[in-house]
Amino acid sequence: PPSRLPQVGTTIFTVMSALAQQVGAVNLGQGFPDFDPDPALAQAVGAAMAAGHHQYPPMAGVPALREAIARKVATLYGRAYDPINEITVTAGATQAILTALLALVQPGDEIIVLEPCYDSYVPGIELAGGTVVRVPLTDGSLRPDFDRLAAALTARTRAIIVNTPHNPSGTVWRADDLQRLWNVVADTDVLLIGDEVYEHMVYDGQPHASLATHPGLAARSLIVSSFGKTYHVTGWKVGYCLAPAPLMAEFRKVHQFNVFTVNTPMQHALAAYMADPAPYLGLAAFYQAKRDRFRAGLAGTRLRLLPCEGTYFQCVDYGALAVPERHLPVAEFCQWLTREVGVAAIPLSAFYGDGRNQQLVRLCFAKRDATLDEALQRLARL
Ligand code: PMP
Ligand code: GLN
Repeated sequence: PPSRLPQVGTTIFTVMSALAQQVGAVNLGQGFPDFDPDPALAQAVGAAMAAGHHQYPPMAGVPALREAIARKVATLYGRAYDPINEITVTAGATQAILTALLALVQPGDEIIVLEPCYDSYVPGIELAGGTVVRVPLTDGSLRPDFDRLAAALTARTRAIIVNTPHNPSGTVWRADDLQRLWNVVADTDVLLIGDEVYEHMVYDGQPHASLATHPGLAARSLIVSSFGKTYHVTGWKVGYCLAPAPLMAEFRKVHQFNVFTVNTPMQHALAAYMADPAPYLGLAAFYQAKRDRFRAGLAGTRLRLLPCEGTYFQCVDYGALAVPERHLPVAEFCQWLTREVGVAAIPLSAFYGDGRNQQLVRLCFAKRDATLDEALQRLARL
């Protein structure tokens, strides 16, 4: 049959989770917690249902939730988004990113991604009829390279997708990165799509450099986040998009014909739960402890740790392992690791358009300590 995405198969996250389940491996592949959210959050869903919130909410989302998001963003990033016309609740970040692309991209527009990048960006650009322009992050440390970015801009550049904290590398933009980005785009009308789903997972006391904190950048940005990451509910599929009113108006034109709106009881529950900032403010310390436990355990193996400043992902280089399987192509290495060692991981090749073969894999540490310890024991045998 005709295909809009001829190169695309099933996502690596689905493939590795299915294999992990099939062979009983510890699943450190797909990014999701193996523990429950705060019971108070689940109870808030029950309360919302008991209160009769079962029918369509407003297209842009439950007003109380949009107001709660506006308060959080104003407090943390110092920018006021109007809940009426600058905030839309989405079915997770994936929908928000695709909706932003469908709303903004005209055929032939160039959209820049910084590679390696999350797997939904490129198909989203292609579905929107855009041309993908891949700008590599710096070699080794996988940080933004603003000279390469500036060199990639053309008269057809429509938008740049910025992801911080960064999946898969765990690198985090700093305030001066935002300023360098500004230097690149200030004289253009290039838009920005900010993927900030890991905004509350930045470690070692660093702040999250949201595009919202920079007035010039914020004025041309659609910023996306996800409650799935922040509240340990990836299966709820609720997120949001922030943008100045003219951009948001375009976003909503597509949103209303894409999902129209997002499930009502979860939105009421999230609105109530957001009244207390402690859960999202405490998230960094919660995950930093897991990162430190996991890294300390990995330090006793032959795996070489890459830095992890944010996200719940730890990348490792397995080039120094003694096993002959280290010479397999990385995707096959991950299959072997899952089947024979009992730990599922994601090959970094999945985040590159050319599927490049490096001895790098991503491990997710959003897991109970017992799960991490079990994975570490298995990895220690390598
Ligand atoms: N962007 C990035 C960088 C992600 O890691 C994820 C989740 N894996 C998403 C977007 C999608 O988020 P959601 O589950 O809310 O659609
Ligand atoms: N964002 C998650 C990850 O990077 C996976 C989400 C998905 O499976 N689409 O692992």
